[in-house]
Amino acid sequence: MNVLLVNPPSTGVFTTFGVSLPPMGLLYIAASLEQAGHKVQVIDLQCEPSDLDPFHIKAADVVGITSDTTRIEKAMEIARQAAAIGRPVVMGGPHPQFMAEEILRTGHVHCIVKGEGDLTFPRLLQNLERREDLAEVEGIIFRDGKKLVETANGPVPDPELLSLPARHLLDLGKYSASLNGIPLTPVVTSRGCPGACSFCSSSSFFGRRWRSRSPESVLAELDEVYNRYGFRAVAFVDDNFSLSPERVIAIADGIRARSYDLQWWNFSRVDNIVGNPQMVQAMAQAGSKTVFLGIESADDESLKTLGKENQGEATAKAVKLLQENGIEVFGSYILGHLNETAKDVERTIQMAVDLNTNIAQFSILTPYPGTPLYRELKERIFLKRWKFYDALHLVFRHPRINRHLLQFLLIKAYLRFYRRSKKAKDDFRDYGKTQDFSLKRMLTCAYDLFF
Ligand code: SF4
Repeated sequence: MNVLLVNPPSTGVFTTFGVSLPPMGLLYIAASLEQAGHKVQVIDLQCEPSDLDPFHIKAADVVGITSDTTRIEKAMEIARQAAAIGRPVVMGGPHPQFMAEEILRTGHVHCIVKGEGDLTFPRLLQNLERREDLAEVEGIIFRDGKKLVETANGPVPDPELLSLPARHLLDLGKYSASLNGIPLTPVVTSRGCPGACSFCSSSSFFGRRWRSRSPESVLAELDEVYNRYGFRAVAFVDDNFSLSPERVIAIADGIRARSYDLQWWNFSRVDNIVGNPQMVQAMAQAGSKTVFLGIESADDESLKTLGKENQGEATAKAVKLLQENGIEVFGSYILGHLNETAKDVERTIQMAVDLNTNIAQFSILTPYPGTPLYRELKERIFLKRWKFYDALHLVFRHPRINRHLLQFLLIKAYLRFYRRSKKAKDDFRDYGKTQDFSLKRMLTCAYDLFF
């Protein structure tokens, strides 16, 4: 079959300031479909200046669309367009799975793939080709008349056994993400997360069992991105790259054994860093430049409600250990936990300034569908437009802080952090030179933030 896979465009502030990365989930599915003999086209509207050309839809037998919460309205526009042309639309991604009823009710989407689609999507296409009963496909949700049918969970892929993502289907030169000015490509080395942070849907979507690729498999992909595609920087974008220190050390040793001139960044939990100084040293020696840490809050009670108890004191140690090894720290903070007052938020901002990580990102607590937080706050949600679920807007009635004050504190957090020292101001000015800060874009950005 001819399959068109579409990644919807970014929305709001992210179109102004966001960096773009290839959609790895779609590229993995594309690889599985190609292996099953299908002809696949991937269109990433993050990087295209215009809307989807109907020509591409007409050329396809099936249209697959991925989406998260923020981009679902754009994803549904594409689904409507494809359905109007008479093509079956298959959706995947966390938001469609957890809001299946709302999406299928529109009549534009044929079915939704639950969880990872690498094995389910090829099976579904076989079913569509043979015009068999959808109920026979495990891992999907669809409508049968007025009834919603959810089949048993589909097979969970072993990432070790999957084909490498089909990077050849995209023009990788169009993506803006870089590390120290060097263009980078993402690499996924594991799936699943044993954590259960209340604001995150990762463990509901991928499952709590951590499934990792062997160092050999990861190194084989690095060989490909380094030699075939010419990348000199990669981002290990899986949630738990450093869950097994032995595996990280083996990957780092493999990079060094190849004498690759490679820089990289990865996500990590604070506890994985602080308990493994040897691993941090090996990472630094093999080109690790930045580690993203979910620091979240200065407030112990907030950390507890997020499922990150015992993190408080370890955070400063983790930041110190990384920086002593020459690795920059990207700290991520969430403002406006349910128990917090404006004063508590100010304490988190002060903590970010004191920790002095190299980069900081502040987000407003957001109840994404599929998370324990969403279930808890469902009745308090007042902003129903999904495009506002960008962690820059308060979408629920907060028990202690009003909406405008929290958004003001978000801006204050950025101003305080990026004006904390002369060096920080200079770094920010350098960053500004790489961005389009035209009046029109800034006004659009301000509008997106406050309306
Ligand atoms: S925030 Fe990170 S550690 Fe927590 S559940 Fe999500 S992926 Fe796992």
